[in-house]
Amino acid sequence: MLKAKDKIFTNLFGDQSYSLREAQSRGDWDQTSNFINKGSDWIIDEVKKSELRGRGGAGFPTGLKWSFMPKDVNKNNYLVVNADESEPGTCKDRDMIRNEPHKLLEGCLLAGFAMNAHDCYIYIRGEYFNESVVLQKAIDEAYEAGLIGKNACNSGWDFNIYLHRGAGAYICGEETALLESLEGKKGQPRLKPPFPANKGLYGSPTTVNNVETIAVVPTVLRRGGSWFSSLGKTKNTGTKVFCISGHVNTPCNIEEEMGIPLKELIEKHAGGVRGGWNNLKAIIPGGSSVPMIPKSVCDSVSMDFDSLSSVKSGLGTAAVIVMDQSTDLVKAIARISRFYKHESCGQCTPCREGTGWMWRMMEKIAAGEASPGEIDRLLDVTKQVEGHTICALGDAAAWPIQGLFRHFRDEIEEQLIKKIRAA
Ligand code: SF4
Repeated sequence: MLKAKDKIFTNLFGDQSYSLREAQSRGDWDQTSNFINKGSDWIIDEVKKSELRGRGGAGFPTGLKWSFMPKDVNKNNYLVVNADESEPGTCKDRDMIRNEPHKLLEGCLLAGFAMNAHDCYIYIRGEYFNESVVLQKAIDEAYEAGLIGKNACNSGWDFNIYLHRGAGAYICGEETALLESLEGKKGQPRLKPPFPANKGLYGSPTTVNNVETIAVVPTVLRRGGSWFSSLGKTKNTGTKVFCISGHVNTPCNIEEEMGIPLKELIEKHAGGVRGGWNNLKAIIPGGSSVPMIPKSVCDSVSMDFDSLSSVKSGLGTAAVIVMDQSTDLVKAIARISRFYKHESCGQCTPCREGTGWMWRMMEKIAAGEASPGEIDRLLDVTKQVEGHTICALGDAAAWPIQGLFRHFRDEIEEQLIKKIRAA
């Protein structure tokens, strides 16, 4: 269990004010100019040493990603923060923004300097209206105090932060769709390459990072990359904010050590599964797009990138959705399928047609109107969508269905056969 002294987000629950004065009393904006004076290579090396992996879902090494940005000072590089948190089950960035906005802003300055960016855009989902008000207030406070703007923190580095509110499309959380939307166009993913580090916002080199990824950077630099990498497991280091929802007694967001056993996470922080651990049916461990895992796997799996991929699921956004024995899993996944059908931007045929097709098949199975053989046809469609689209939304629509039938096919087939016999 994470010790109190190793927590990064000490005001995650909002017990204290988010104001600059209180943020500074918690240690934010301390030594910031010293870090800048040490140079961008030092910052990137510390982040590499920490082994921090992106907290938005993909888990790409952050220091490595930053090192892709061109060093040419004549280039107009951009840092873009993805605060379009829209993955069902996920609400960690929301708490960071409303209770610890200065951690994010300080991280923006340090990350921006490291990547030779004088301008940063924070793209926040439109539904986070109250959070956008808090964040704008924090940005104004930071400008007034000289922490950002011209000669930020007296470091000699000019740095501006702009807040941009999205309009509610899930797909704008995909980094290139986000950039399109920021440019004022329809939020549709771009074909890659070119990658944003070469050609991103307004055609300039751009790095897009998740809120949590950027917000942990100041503490990583203050305490050292090796402190961060001493927490968690090899290649799965540091702390992580988990969102626990569904059939638990006390749903919550909680910062814990990466690699904590799933069972311990739920029992220690979420008051346990409703009706006890044995009443557990399955868990979606990383937001709605990752495959579910049954209780037998939940008994022993750890919450980190590599452990969850070894059981054919994923850490994703670390949004843990708990489903007890009362859950109709087919209906639950049918609901998720409907979500992805609704959010498909429609650019590629396998996603545009396949998401609707998968959702209708799931509804048919949920209503008990499908034959067991139709499950094979559905799984075949998921395979035709997976990996054949411009962005990962196609995979996100296919994986929950594959996870459901990987673990519960026998049970679902039995129910379908019973219905056919009863008819
Ligand atoms: Fe759009 Fe879906 Fe293609 Fe992504 S996979 S670009 S959401 S149609």
